[in-house]
Amino acid sequence: PYIIAEPCVDVKDKACIEECPVDCIYEGGRMLYIQPDECVDCGACEPVCPVEAIFYEDDTPDQWAGYVNANVDFFDDL
Ligand code: SF4
Repeated sequence: PYIIAEPCVDVKDKACIEECPVDCIYEGGRMLYIQPDECVDCGACEPVCPVEAIFYEDDTPDQWAGYVNANVDFFDDL
């Protein structure tokens, strides 16, 4: 799946939510999260993010690697 990383924190622009064809992007307290089991890897959300917070999970920059699990954990904790 695609994941959302640190640039989204306290931004939550939500342009990605408008683009997602399966509505798998959800709002958390300080950022948005992608539901990994629902994401169909279409990539539509990535280019519309104004702060470039969205990455295909394997392409996530090293400094934000922890956000891959953060997206999973957000839904585990619901
Ligand atoms: Fe939604 Fe596609 Fe982005 Fe996955 S890659 S979160 S399905 S817009």
